[in-house]
Amino acid sequence: TDSDTADEAVRATCDDATTCKRFASSKNYWKDPYIQYFVRSVGERKAPEINRGYYARVQGMNHLLDAFIRKTECDCQVINLGAGLDTTFWRLKDENIMPRKFFEVDFPTVVARKIHNIKTKPPLSKPLIETHSTDSLLLDAHSLDSDRYCIIGADLRDVSNLNEKLKKFQLNPELPTLLLSECVMVYMTPSQSSNLVHWAAETFHTAMFINYEQVNMSDRFGQVMVENLQRRQCTLAGVEACQSLDSQRDRFLKTGWEHADALDMMTVYSMLPQDDVARIERLEFLDEKELLQQLLQHYSICWATKDKLNLGLSQLAF
Ligand code: SAM
Repeated sequence: TDSDTADEAVRATCDDATTCKRFASSKNYWKDPYIQYFVRSVGERKAPEINRGYYARVQGMNHLLDAFIRKTECDCQVINLGAGLDTTFWRLKDENIMPRKFFEVDFPTVVARKIHNIKTKPPLSKPLIETHSTDSLLLDAHSLDSDRYCIIGADLRDVSNLNEKLKKFQLNPELPTLLLSECVMVYMTPSQSSNLVHWAAETFHTAMFINYEQVNMSDRFGQVMVENLQRRQCTLAGVEACQSLDSQRDRFLKTGWEHADALDMMTVYSMLPQDDVARIERLEFLDEKELLQQLLQHYSICWATKDKLNLGLSQLAF
């Protein structure tokens, strides 16, 4: 059906993200020793502005994620919504800032692929086994559950099903919880993403939600971005929620979150540690500075908090 085709196009976006991250990390924009086990070849060259854009995205998300984990002294859980082939769990393990449990959710077919890679690549499976206390690690084609890492196949548009599955795998609503969505909610309608964000606010009393996606999509450049995706049968169903930084914040403030901030990625880029930015700017020559600016102005990070335990989550920022 049409909706199967549309979902398939959305699932395929996971390969785009992974191949771009694979390429940029192979060029030393940042270190990711695990992504090679999810995509074997480095693939064709990506333009320098694309690599810098991914650098801002990865460093920006990591900055807030790490700040949350340190604030909670690892006494927390993380839920990566639409995680795709993301490697964050393995980075946190290596850096010794592992949350109590790290959950990932994606469509069942994406999850099956990820599990297959984990099963067959010892550098991926070893950390899971090492951090698991018993011999009985649940590992079948559609789910994997260990003490510290769990991956679940579910459709994020069906919140009650999502909730049930997370509970089944020992999600603890009492624990400070970080929810991540990186280029995911834009593929859902505004009401579907609001439902998801609302569910999170209702479920956790102390939490932070970090969302990375398109913004300022109503101008000419934004229109071209939408058209380019549509040409590949991929509809940005959530584009209405991506009109401005205010609309990004409003989605959270209207659904029970206490505090929300949003920045476009040009601003985030200018706030990242500038010695490292100077380092990556030397990696590849970029002629078209304006193109990078335009690109970064069309993506944003929005983060929202609620903080019953008074951990000081609303202070987390760049
Ligand atoms: N977050 C990863 C990253 O940034 O590297 C992957 C991003 S990829 C652009 C979008 C991911 O969201 C895909 O893996 C896709 O399958 C997943 N996704 C989109 N809509 C979803 C839904 N309704 N339910 C579950 N997963 C979904």
